[in-house]
Amino acid sequence: MSGSLIIAGLGPGAAQLITPEVTAALNEATDLIGYAPYVARVTERDGLTRHGSDNREELDRASHALRLAAQGRRVVVVSSGDPGVFAMAAAVFEAVDAGDPSWRELDIQVLPGISAMFAAAARIGAPLGHDFCAINLSDNLKPWDLVERRLRLAAQAGFVIALYNPLSKARPWQLGRALDLLREELPGQVPVIFASAISDAREAIDTVPLAEAIAERADMRTLVMIGSTQTKLIARANGKPFVYTPRSVGAAT
Ligand code: SAH
Repeated sequence: MSGSLIIAGLGPGAAQLITPEVTAALNEATDLIGYAPYVARVTERDGLTRHGSDNREELDRASHALRLAAQGRRVVVVSSGDPGVFAMAAAVFEAVDAGDPSWRELDIQVLPGISAMFAAAARIGAPLGHDFCAINLSDNLKPWDLVERRLRLAAQAGFVIALYNPLSKARPWQLGRALDLLREELPGQVPVIFASAISDAREAIDTVPLAEAIAERADMRTLVMIGSTQTKLIARANGKPFVYTPRSVGAAT
């Protein structure tokens, strides 16, 4: 039997945000690999072996998946959101690049998912309507100096900025530092969106001016979006404001 490896995105949390092609791949899989809470989102069934692992073991997990696929198994590696956004797809290709040359010949496919920034943006309006970027605030895989440089340049260039992994127990100060730095670059009224547990029962989404943004509002399941000077609020009497960024901009900001 020839094996295969699919790297699939499970979306932000809700079952109805998993694409039909990912569902089909999960139904065909013999082995499921990923960070334990994501593996737990897939229902158990006969014929499916679930291999949950710790969050920090991405390369080991990728090599494990490749070895199983090389043995003829139908392996699905799962990530939350989209597997190509700060997730397992790049880890698998790093392992292919550095690993056993025969792995290059395997049947490997990436199936997209709805990334947290798209799920969060859709909940509140259209904050990503103009140019934007995504920055991973974790400094596990890059020096903090580089994060600061990218934040400053992105703010200066007028991008809306989606911040993934804003903080964790091991990284308590990074988001506070990032907000302080952004306050040096942007006006205080720029909207900041804290979108937590989007599409789950615990979903919470708040928009505050940058001047009042407090890092403690965020946790590990929060996506933070920093608006540009063009990002606007549409106030509503009976609900949260819509937040959007117009598609066009005149002079450089
Ligand atoms: N591949 C994932 C991102 C993995 S990094 C994707 O495309 O969404 C993990 C980070 O994603 C979290 O720290 C948080 O910033 C964000 N995130 C994941 N799920 C989320 C959700 N349901 N609501 C808000 N943010 C989420």
